Amino acid sequence: MTANVPKAELHCHIEGAASPALAKMQADKYGVDISPIINGNSYVWEDFTSFLEVYDTVAKLFRTREDFCLLAETYLSSLAEDGAIYSEFFISTDHARESGIDPADYVSGLADGIDEARKTTGIEARMIAIGLRHMGPNAVLETARWITANPHPLITGFGMAGDERMYDVPDFLPAHDLARTAGLGISTHAGELCGPASIRHTVEHLKPDRIGHGVRAIEDQGLVELIAEEEIVLEVCPASNVVLEIYPDFASHPLPKLVEAGCQVTLNSDDPPHFSTSLANEYRIAAEHFGYGDQALLEFTTNAIKAAFIDGETRTRLLEKCRLTGLG
Ligand SMILES: [Zn+2]
Repeated sequence: MTANVPKAELHCHIEGAASPALAKMQADKYGVDISPIINGNSYVWEDFTSFLEVYDTVAKLFRTREDFCLLAETYLSSLAEDGAIYSEFFISTDHARESGIDPADYVSGLADGIDEARKTTGIEARMIAIGLRHMGPNAVLETARWITANPHPLITGFGMAGDERMYDVPDFLPAHDLARTAGLGISTHAGELCGPASIRHTVEHLKPDRIGHGVRAIEDQGLVELIAEEEIVLEVCPASNVVLEIYPDFASHPLPKLVEAGCQVTLNSDDPPHFSTSLANEYRIAAEHFGYGDQALLEFTTNAIKAAFIDGETRTRLLEKCRLTGLG
């Protein structure tokens, strides 16, 4: 029943969106043996640490502007096939450098992929540049400096991902302030591996527009109220949370409680093939495990469009697409 609902996501790491089939194609192109990390149509890893290793191995299979065009185009086309009208994905200039590609070519390649997918499917997309927290405040500041010195019309946001257990939140303020001053929207990961204190620090010090995950806010009622009041949007990724054992099952997942408490929640796939999911599957989970009907599912989409880092005209056009489904 979710098939007819227009979908949108704000939280997906582009290198983590490469399907095993595409990774295999790239591995053949560069003569790399990735058989140890692939089993059929799945990636093989055991815990958060080995997941990050597999992620990095796959990321290094994309090395040229054409490779990144193919990656973005393939991902966005598959999203559009599932009824998605909008996607915001995270890009990492640190991963680009690891792959030996100039960040400017990396950005151009991904932008080419967005343009191609838009031409053939109509899907709209933007990029959010992220710094990696475990690389430290200076590295994240460097990323912000590069992005603000090399602006691109399709890069509309900045934020931070990586290991949330490392470093103190206030140390990352200069990077976030630099990006904010340059007009970028702010979305930062918090409240996934760490509890509510991590989210509170992030909200108080970095003042993000959106939080990646944020689900563990549920452990602090006052924080949930603050998030609802300040209208900080949560990018919730249910399958990712269950596969990474943040929650043992969907029945324990706080998504419905966050919605009931008045938080603005969106549905997202994070690193879809690594968690055996897709954006369509996240909508299915919301329907089957949380009991949402089509109308409520459409609200997740409009939440995402309203919170998207896009210009007013594009927002109006996308909201109109939602309205025209007759569900809203
Ligand atoms: Zn993420």
